[in-house]
Amino acid sequence: MVEPIKVTTQKEREQHLQKAHFNPFLLQSQHVLIDLLTDSGTSAMSQNQWAAMMQGDESYAGARSWQKFYKAVHNLTGFEYILPTHQGRAAERILYTYLGGKGKVFISNTHFDTTRANIEFSGAQAIDIPIEEAKDFNSDYPFKGNLDTEKLKQLFKRHKKNIAAVIVTVTNNSGGGQPVSMQNMKEVSAICKKNKILLILDCCRIAENSYFVKHREKKYAKHSYKEIAMEMFSLADGCIMSAKKDALVNMGGFLAIADKELADACMSLLIITEGFSTYGGLSGRDMEAIAVGLEEVFEADYLNYRIKSTAYLCDHIKKIGIPVLYPAGGHAVYVDAKKLYPHIPVEQYPGQALVCALYEIGGIRSVEIGSVMFGKYDKNKKLIPATNELVRLAIPRRVYTQSHIDYVIEVFGEVLKQSKNAKGLKIIREPAFLRHFTAHFEMI
Ligand SMILES: *Cc1c(COP(=O)(O)O)cnc(C)c1O
Repeated sequence: MVEPIKVTTQKEREQHLQKAHFNPFLLQSQHVLIDLLTDSGTSAMSQNQWAAMMQGDESYAGARSWQKFYKAVHNLTGFEYILPTHQGRAAERILYTYLGGKGKVFISNTHFDTTRANIEFSGAQAIDIPIEEAKDFNSDYPFKGNLDTEKLKQLFKRHKKNIAAVIVTVTNNSGGGQPVSMQNMKEVSAICKKNKILLILDCCRIAENSYFVKHREKKYAKHSYKEIAMEMFSLADGCIMSAKKDALVNMGGFLAIADKELADACMSLLIITEGFSTYGGLSGRDMEAIAVGLEEVFEADYLNYRIKSTAYLCDHIKKIGIPVLYPAGGHAVYVDAKKLYPHIPVEQYPGQALVCALYEIGGIRSVEIGSVMFGKYDKNKKLIPATNELVRLAIPRRVYTQSHIDYVIEVFGEVLKQSKNAKGLKIIREPAFLRHFTAHFEMI
């Protein structure tokens, strides 16, 4: 499929941005030239996926499309109980509402924003324990997505009975799209088993993570990508997937669990809020497309192109002097806005300033992953900043070509030239949860 993109002038974009209150989430898509806001639900589907959709069986219960979906998810994950949901956060809401509540604690390499929001909304606490090596943006440490197992043991001692679950996110989206090694997953799994704590794999990008395991962990060099994924699933008690990522579809998700009792409890919530157990939040044709996508995403040629093209963008903007999180993650390139704009204090959101500059200068849409997304206020309404001020350039799957990416690199050259002129922002309106989606800003 060919999709036209509309070219705008810088002057027009300045007006569009003002109208969007300097929040690119509030822009209209036809005003965006290259959309790197997210890789979620933005994949181009293959001819085989479209063909499968034509066979969608929309029966309310026990549809053929459900059987195909079940088989695909079961074969990959090994889990027996599978709950289809309309997207990842619906699965999160079901599982974390059931497991969470006041006093409960969840531990993760890094909770993704919707994961954290669902946990905190239930009244529980979400603790991130990425490894120390993840803090160094310049080293070529191969698995910066790993979870700190020493800290995990300490937290198990401190919170004992209150720990609801450990969540390993592969790849670690909010931690820079960095991979988790099989070795780390094995250690986390062993610690959880010993302490009888539930281990959930947030497997949105399981195929991309498998790519890194194969090419960076010697023991797995001869395994297929799918075998690596299957081994990783075997170390967990359940998983949550946003199919909008590595299932190569525009909408969908699921929750898969090994334990019957837990599955039964979740099933009740599924039926109340999503739909009957054999479709959840999905139509038959969606389940068809997911079943095909879960196969295609493990194809070697696809994964090779995918990961290499992300690295291409990262390496080229790094070469011209843009501070990036290195090495590149699987689905996105992360720019260190604090370093690019040292003159903008964190209270004025340097990441948001870069997001605005990329749009104004080049019509590129990106997202801040820093204190806009994760900042909190203390009692005096003073900002407690996030650990990092990053901007994420997420690459939609099977959408952009190298010449699109070359254009992005050129725009970064211009952003760098104008970096001293960039101005900070202040938030003038925000909701209580997930404020980055709808907040309004003003330029300072
Ligand atoms: C996208 C994502 C989710 C949430 O999934 P949605 O389909 O957007 O609701 C959860 N965890 C991670 C790591 C994600 O990337």
